[in-house]
Amino acid sequence: MKHIFITGGVVSSLGKGLTSASLGMLLESRGYSVRMQKLDPYLNIDPGTMSPYQHGEVYVLDDGAETDLDLGHYERFTVSPLSRNSSWTSGKIYRNVLRRERRGRFLGKTVQVIPHITDEIKRAIRSLRNRDVDFMLTEIGGTVGDIESLPFLEAIRQFALDAGRTNCLFIHLTLLPYLKSSNQLKTKPTQHSVSTLRQIGIQPDILVCRTEMPISDVERNKIGLFCNLNTQDVIEEKDAEFSIYEVPITLHNNGLDNRVLHYFRLDSKEQTEPDLSCWYDILGRLRNPSSEITIAVVGKYAKHKDAYKSIYESIDHAGIKHRTNVRVRGIPSDSFSPKQLDDVDGVLVPGGFGDRGVEGKIDAIRTARERQIPFFGICLGMQCAVIEFARNICGMDKANSTEFDQNTSYPVITLLDEQRNVTDKGGTMRLGAQAAVLNETSNVFKSYGNKEISERHRHRYEFNNSYRDKLREAGLVIAGTSPDGGLVEVVELANHPWFVGVQYHPEFKSKPTKPHPLFDNFIAAAINHAK
Ligand code: GLN
Repeated sequence: MKHIFITGGVVSSLGKGLTSASLGMLLESRGYSVRMQKLDPYLNIDPGTMSPYQHGEVYVLDDGAETDLDLGHYERFTVSPLSRNSSWTSGKIYRNVLRRERRGRFLGKTVQVIPHITDEIKRAIRSLRNRDVDFMLTEIGGTVGDIESLPFLEAIRQFALDAGRTNCLFIHLTLLPYLKSSNQLKTKPTQHSVSTLRQIGIQPDILVCRTEMPISDVERNKIGLFCNLNTQDVIEEKDAEFSIYEVPITLHNNGLDNRVLHYFRLDSKEQTEPDLSCWYDILGRLRNPSSEITIAVVGKYAKHKDAYKSIYESIDHAGIKHRTNVRVRGIPSDSFSPKQLDDVDGVLVPGGFGDRGVEGKIDAIRTARERQIPFFGICLGMQCAVIEFARNICGMDKANSTEFDQNTSYPVITLLDEQRNVTDKGGTMRLGAQAAVLNETSNVFKSYGNKEISERHRHRYEFNNSYRDKLREAGLVIAGTSPDGGLVEVVELANHPWFVGVQYHPEFKSKPTKPHPLFDNFIAAAINHAK
């Protein structure tokens, strides 16, 4: 098994996750088996308790792990299975070490960052080892030079020593800032970043340079010379013009996967070109759309582009399939007014926690229901749809979720077990993949083409079963439940072009090459609405 470590330098948010995922995809498209992993230097045990403002969306895996949004890129680009062991933070590493310390496992030794924390990091990397895997890609979060990153960098340095330098490749992603006034790309920050890495004992083997402008031969030679690299190993990653789905093709055209195989001496054996036809097809569709629609996303973090990352990506995937340019309009739910939906073709209300903006979401759902605009409610969006229906169709005045109003006379959404101890905010949710069964006469059944589905969850509250009959009698369709029938998973409305609320998160299972059936059908309904 070969290891590829990806670090980042100069500034954060350079798209390390995207670059790593793209490389994973390129290696898979050459027939290799790949595993992806992210190591994050921050101290939270997992990102589950972090605000989307701070860290973007929390991405949920099948096994219920709450992870960094970069794992979403991994799943969208590759077929590599992800698990709890694909995501580690300093917090999780320290917790493991400190638990062992409390159990007396260190036999009186002084517990230290080196070797105890670094050993635990190496163990985390090895936790995904598998005989059938060709490449393991480990992305190190943060930026080289950060205090928190140091133990991780030290650990991967040691790892390469243990596993053999020829089995380990270091890729460093940096930025070449462009100075307009002098019409120049500046290489100095990259030189500094590489020199910081080398002080720690890591010589990068490949440098991927984010840039607005093409890198000239002169600049490439200069970077190679100062960073101790072959010029062919200085790879340009120019900003994508249309979409992130250009990135793998750009990197391939600039030689990244070839240079990786060259490093591992795998290039002579199978110098076949990867099959990228479906990715070229995606680009063709993105560049030549045949229609245009507008989807309103009404949420608490509508103006923050990473907070609903997977939802925006899923909308794009369906747009690609339908050759439609989807303009997404983020509408902050705490200042919602129905006028904002005058010219939209679909309304999506995403998941969320806390009461800010909930009334705006309910109002948006009412508008979409009354005006027959396609509506898609996800998790809290589904709960709000149930509240809206109870209030405005069933006359249950001030119906609510007990998350927002403990004393409501109509608690249509409640905690499954109100007695459950929820003082510990970490890991008290219904999390991860769970099965559901769809009603064969429903629209969602038609979308999936399947009665049994499995989708990922992340929530505490549920549809209150004591209101099931009343709401059903008034016309709410219970289109899907848990296999034992005990939990409502999907609601729909008849007499509406497309009105679906799901208690789970379909956005975690959509891929550019295979849009999720519900996003696919929601976008199709929006295209119809636009006609
Ligand atoms: N706050 C709601 C709950 O906990 C919805 C969660 C979500 O939308 N992910 O059930």
